[in-house]
Amino acid sequence: MQEKINEIKNNLVIDLDKTKTIQDIVDLKAKYIGKNGCVTELTKNMKDIPAEERKSVGALANEVKVEVTNLITLKEEEINKAILDEKLSKESIDVTLPATEINAGAPNILERVVEDFESVFMSMGYDVYDGPEIEEDKYNFELLNIPKGHPARDAQDTFYIKDNEILLRSQTSPVQARVMLEKKGVESVRMICPGKTYRRDDDDATHSHQFMQIEGLLVDHDISLSDLKGTCDMIAKKLFGSDTQTRFRPSYYQFTEPSVELDISCFNCKGKGCNICKNTGWITVAGAGMVHPNVLSMCGYDPSKWNGFAFGFGAERCAMLKYGINDIRTFYNTDLRETRNFDRREVE
Ligand SMILES: [Zn+2]
Repeated sequence: MQEKINEIKNNLVIDLDKTKTIQDIVDLKAKYIGKNGCVTELTKNMKDIPAEERKSVGALANEVKVEVTNLITLKEEEINKAILDEKLSKESIDVTLPATEINAGAPNILERVVEDFESVFMSMGYDVYDGPEIEEDKYNFELLNIPKGHPARDAQDTFYIKDNEILLRSQTSPVQARVMLEKKGVESVRMICPGKTYRRDDDDATHSHQFMQIEGLLVDHDISLSDLKGTCDMIAKKLFGSDTQTRFRPSYYQFTEPSVELDISCFNCKGKGCNICKNTGWITVAGAGMVHPNVLSMCGYDPSKWNGFAFGFGAERCAMLKYGINDIRTFYNTDLRETRNFDRREVE
């Protein structure tokens, strides 16, 4: 018995020395302490051992088993640690290496202008509405006081999808008509509707067949042109700086009466005259006016009781002025070098 145990121990020392991998450990366990392992074998024929020796043999075999198991476990831990160390050394990060540049995105510059509008108008109790870009002639023209055959339609050069009926909206005003009809002439309206619009313009530095409008509408009782002026003044100061001056010039639109154009004092030269303002000191940024009584009545509001104002800003124009962009097409191309430039402008 003792001979056998010595042999096992000697073999184990040799085997442990050869053990390098987890698989070796598995094999080692099988060889020594597995079901048919040599240590397990020691106690297999206990019945052949004389009764008086059985106890001491059993104790001895058990002692060997514990010793062998401990030695194998120690080796296993050693191997696991070596594997972990190797893994960690491979994964270690050299903090002195130069980092690769991360191209973080930023909100689109047009989106930022729209958000500026939204936050100002929402703070004044306006709701933001959305509407279909494929629109019916009725909402895009007729309800806005532009009947079929009216010359004002020519100026807009609309993309028709179905003759004189379905079109790509040429303005966001149809959303206003829809909201007025929805409120059925009994509720006041405070809304802005930013969105894409389409006209058959040839694309160049200042024209695009697709562009964004930010239109607004207020319908209530006893609204005056000075309410419109105050509102326009507020958004102009928010967008272009608190020292911005505003003025109205008379204009003509089919859906407003009277109609005006909104000019802001040139933020670049402060009125002295420069390229941006074409030496006038003023820049036109929006069209506006008091809602035409015809529009009110066609959209369900009694013009003897209700009145209101409407305005429309070009989002691209505002963004171009604000961020010094001189070609409208840059908003719609996919050249990241351009859009990254926009991102940087916010930081400046
Ligand atoms: Zn100027």
